[in-house]
Amino acid sequence: MTNNLCVILGDQLSSNISSLKNFKKNQDKILMMEVFNEATYANHHKKKLVLVFSAMRHFAKELQEKGVSVTYSKINKSQDNFTKELSSQCKKIQPKRIVITHPGEYRVLQEIKKWEKVLKIPVSIVDDDRFFCTIDEFKKWTEGRKELRMESFYQMMRKKYQILIDNNGKPKGGKWNYDIKNRKSLPKNHPDVPKPLQHKPDDITKQVIAEVKKKFPKHFGDLEPFWFAVTHEQAKKSLNDFIKNRLSMFGPYEDAMAQEESFLYHSVLSMYLNIGLLEPKQIINKVLEKDGIKVESVEGFVRQILGWREYIRGIYWYTMPKYSKTNYFDAKNKLPKFYWTGNTEMNCIKNCIEQTIKESYAHHIQRLMITGNFALIAGIKPEEVCEWYLSVYADAYEWVELPNTHGMTLYADGGVLGSKPYAASGNYINKMSDYCKDCKYDVKQKEGDDACPFNYLYWNFFLKNQKKLEKNPRLWTVFSNIKKMSQEKKSQIRNNSKKFLIQISK
Ligand SMILES: Cc1cc2nc3c(=O)[nH]c(=O)nc-3n(C[C@H](O)[C@H](O)[C@H](O)COP(=O)(O)OP(=O)(O)OC[C@H]3O[C@@H](n4cnc5c(N)ncnc54)[C@H](O)[C@@H]3O)c2cc1C
Ligand code: SF4
Repeated sequence: MTNNLCVILGDQLSSNISSLKNFKKNQDKILMMEVFNEATYANHHKKKLVLVFSAMRHFAKELQEKGVSVTYSKINKSQDNFTKELSSQCKKIQPKRIVITHPGEYRVLQEIKKWEKVLKIPVSIVDDDRFFCTIDEFKKWTEGRKELRMESFYQMMRKKYQILIDNNGKPKGGKWNYDIKNRKSLPKNHPDVPKPLQHKPDDITKQVIAEVKKKFPKHFGDLEPFWFAVTHEQAKKSLNDFIKNRLSMFGPYEDAMAQEESFLYHSVLSMYLNIGLLEPKQIINKVLEKDGIKVESVEGFVRQILGWREYIRGIYWYTMPKYSKTNYFDAKNKLPKFYWTGNTEMNCIKNCIEQTIKESYAHHIQRLMITGNFALIAGIKPEEVCEWYLSVYADAYEWVELPNTHGMTLYADGGVLGSKPYAASGNYINKMSDYCKDCKYDVKQKEGDDACPFNYLYWNFFLKNQKKLEKNPRLWTVFSNIKKMSQEKKSQIRNNSKKFLIQISK
């Protein structure tokens, strides 16, 4: 009889995962399950499905080669969920106890909490210690605070882990945050940017590609060419490649966008990090080891992982399940069809969506300031926007996707996460990218059929939500401009917006 049955989920593929801390080879077993429900609860990009299944199969093989007993159920029956598959395996394995690391998603935690009752076996849920900040520690940090801003959380984490702190306890380089130096656009004759490392699919991955092609033909996105890392070793090579070839320019061009550069100087590591092929601590240590990198690149990158990623997870567990229902602006419009096809004449959106279809990747500014900004100013329902982000990106899991969508992008949480909505007109997009020069619309025009839709939708958004936003000191300039606006101009903005929104809803 088996003592402990350790269940490892598809985003828990770390060799030192907490559920295996006291694992005894001669008494315990591991169970890994590919289940239909998990593959289909969102319209996951085909590359995301291949990534997760292939990485799971490689991890199982790695463990088996170390002499560990792993029961692995491959995707087959169309009605499967974790509970059904686990109960059928428990009948065969007869474990005394089930051990599992705390899942990433609230939905999965609710399912796990029912296991003891359904299976009549004790279940231990152990903390996921791959993060710098525990869920409880984050909750403590929130106590007595009026505002839960990332910046103060980040400073607390820097101090706690002594990261980029000098001998006097001050931030290295003199500042906590070099955000101001992270805003360059890419110059016209900038040389080609080194691409992320591409890995050749082996036999296991080829088999998964064939299965995904057959079983999930209607899912979003291109299946091939598939080049993601699917093992710890490959992911480590991708990390080293980023540090060698792109980290130094990460800071200056962090907010830039370019039509021919899908990845720019970004790390393209989130998809590996989120399933356990890389660890946050491993990435930060490796980045800090590298000499001669500009402080705005090192700090900018550390801020994303130690700051944003940890803070986002904290907000998720602190606010769920209420957070997923937030809709501060009462946004009611449907997600336009072009989010799934890229079929729009707005070149910035077309480019980002076509890239997403191909790569299952878009960098942060494309997600936030193009597809996200449009959804915000066009008043798209948060749940539909969320469903889209959760489906299309290889790194998408609710714990990280939801606060980024509801909080950072849509301000649907009414300001829990951000101090103001990230709304922007065509001017910002034109400044930070080369999209506008190839667009049917004219970014300089504010009104009429040829005007850039971001221009009038931007003002329409603030006019519509004036009561909810006009007291926000960070929006003082916006509302002082609105005060100066003639009634005629306001009507023109409203009419242009109405016409355009009807057009895209068809
Ligand atoms: C609407 C929206 C939805 C998003 N959904 C997801 C998601 O489902 N999964 C996801 O991992 N990230 C998400 N992000 C955050 C961010 O866009 C991605 O982490 C990043 O683009 C991944 O690319 P990269 O690895 O090249 O990141 P880099 O730019 O190289 O950044 C380094 C790392 O920092 C972390 N990071 C950076 N920004 C954030 C952030 N805002 N929140 C959390 N971690 C961050 C990521 O782990 C990333 O790998 C979303 C952002 C927005 C605006
Ligand atoms: S003109 Fe407007 S719609 Fe066209 S690419 Fe520029 S910002 Fe996007």
